Amino acid sequence: TQTLHIIGGGMAGSEAAWQAANMGITVVIHEMRPKVETFAHQTGDLAEMVCSNSFRSDDDEGNAVGLLHWEMRAAGGVIIAAADANALPAGSALAVDREAFAKTVTERVTAHPNISVSYEEVTSLPEGPCIIATGPLTSSALADAIAAEAGQESLAFFDAIAPIVHFDSIDMSRAWMQSRYDKGETEEERTAYLNCPMDKEQYEAFIDALLSADVTTFKPGETAGYFDGCLPIEVMAERGRETLRFGPMKPVGLTNPHQPDVKPHAVVQLRRDNALGTLYNIVGFQTKMKYGAQTTVFKTIPGLENARFARLGGIHRNTFINSPTLLDEQMRLKSKPNIRMAGQITGVEGYVESAAMGLLAGRLAAAEILGQDLPPVPVDTAMGALVSHITGGAEAKTFQPMNVNFGLFRPVEAKGGRRGRKDRYKMYTDRAKAAWSEWLGLPALDESSAAE
Ligand code: FAD
Repeated sequence: TQTLHIIGGGMAGSEAAWQAANMGITVVIHEMRPKVETFAHQTGDLAEMVCSNSFRSDDDEGNAVGLLHWEMRAAGGVIIAAADANALPAGSALAVDREAFAKTVTERVTAHPNISVSYEEVTSLPEGPCIIATGPLTSSALADAIAAEAGQESLAFFDAIAPIVHFDSIDMSRAWMQSRYDKGETEEERTAYLNCPMDKEQYEAFIDALLSADVTTFKPGETAGYFDGCLPIEVMAERGRETLRFGPMKPVGLTNPHQPDVKPHAVVQLRRDNALGTLYNIVGFQTKMKYGAQTTVFKTIPGLENARFARLGGIHRNTFINSPTLLDEQMRLKSKPNIRMAGQITGVEGYVESAAMGLLAGRLAAAEILGQDLPPVPVDTAMGALVSHITGGAEAKTFQPMNVNFGLFRPVEAKGGRRGRKDRYKMYTDRAKAAWSEWLGLPALDESSAAE
C-alpha cells in the first residue's frame, strides 16, 4: 500500500499519524523543528503546546470541548491519552504538565512500528497521499506553495476575530433584524443583519470602557507587518471618540422598530455566522482586549446584556486557508485531492480542535488508501459539527477560525417545551456519543449508562 506523508508533527499531525498507523498504514511525519524554528515553539518535541497548558473543559456532558475529549478517547487518540497521562489538578479543566505531555506523545508516536519521523522542512506540495498539518506558523516556503495552488486570496496570515454570540442569548426586544438601507433582493438579504442601538450616553460610556480595557500585546516577531487591514476596535477608539461612529458603528440606513421615532446615536451590527443561524459575529469588532474585559464591555451593548459568547475576539499570527471554498467534506483540497489539510491551518482554533481534525484526517486518509468506504462523519458529533462547519457550513466570505461549541450543532428537539441549558447540553452530548460510537463501530451505549 501507499505511504502516507504527514507534514507537521504538531497536535494535528501527530494524531493523524497515530490514527492512520493504527489502521495499518505506513506513515512518515515530516517535522521541521528543531532544525527550523518558529517564534513560539521552544523544543524539537512533537505536539509541543506553544502557550497555555490547558485542553480546556473536560466536562463531556455540558461542554462541547469536553465532548470532543470524549470522542477522541473513544477513538483511541494519542493526544488525549498523553494529556490524561500527564494531567495536573485543575478542577473540571484538563491541564497538563506540558513538557511531560509532549515527551509522551513523541515517545508513543516514534515507537509506533508504522511511523517514522523525518526532521526536515517541506517546501513544496507532495504528489502522493499526504496530510498538511503545519499549523498557524506554517513556514513561509510551504505557505507560498499552498498559496500558489489555492490562490493568494484564500490564505490568511493573521486572524482578526470578532466575537461570536449565540443567537438565542440576544434580547430581540431591544435588537432587530435589518440590512442597511434594506438592501437585498430577498427578504433574507434584507434582514441579514441584527442591530443593537445605542443612545449618546451609552455610546460615550462604551468608548470609555474600550479605552480603559485591559489588552494583550503582541509577542516579538508576531506581527510581521500584516496588521494594518484589521485595526482592533480599541485602537480605532484611541484614534478619536467618533471613529467607531463613522466606522463599524455608523447609525445610518437603519430604523429601530422598537422606537421608530428615535434615531440611534450608534448601532452595533451582528452578521449571521453559520448556515444554521445559531451564531452571529459582531461586525468589525476584532479586538486585543483580554477575555474578561471583552465580556464586560460587550455586555453593555443594548440587547447583549445576557449574551453568551461562542468565542471571544482576538488578533493573532495565524496561517489558515479558506476551508469552506477549498476543501471537500473529506478535508481534501478540491483542486489537488491527494492532499488533505488538518489542524489549525484549516481554520479551527485550539489544541483540542486541531488534534481532533488530525484524528479525522488520519482516519479518512488511511481509509482511502485501503480502499474502504467510510460513512460520512455524523454531523451530530462534535467532530462532525466542526468539520462540516469549516468545509461548508461557515460563511466563506467572512471565514475566521472557530472553536468547537454547541452553536455548530443542529438544534436538539426539546420534547415537552423549552428545556434549561443544562438539559439541552446533555441532549447534545448524548446524541453525539451515540452517533460517534456508531461511526467508530463501537457497541451502542446502553440506556442506563447514557442516562447516568
Ligand atoms: P502545530 O501544533 O503548530 O503543529 C504544526 C507543526 O508543523 C509544527 O511542529 C511546525 O514546526 C511544523 N511545520 C510548520 N511548517 C512546516 C514545514 N514547512 N515543514 C515541516 N514542518 C513544518 N491553542 C490553544 O488551545 N491554547 C493556547 O494557549 C494557544 N496558544 C497559542 C499561541 C500561539 C502563539 C499560537 C501561534 C497558537 C496558539 N494556539 C493555542 C492555537 C493552536 O491551537 C495551536 O497552535 C495548535 O498547536 C495547533 O495545532 P496544529 O497541529 O495545527 O499546529
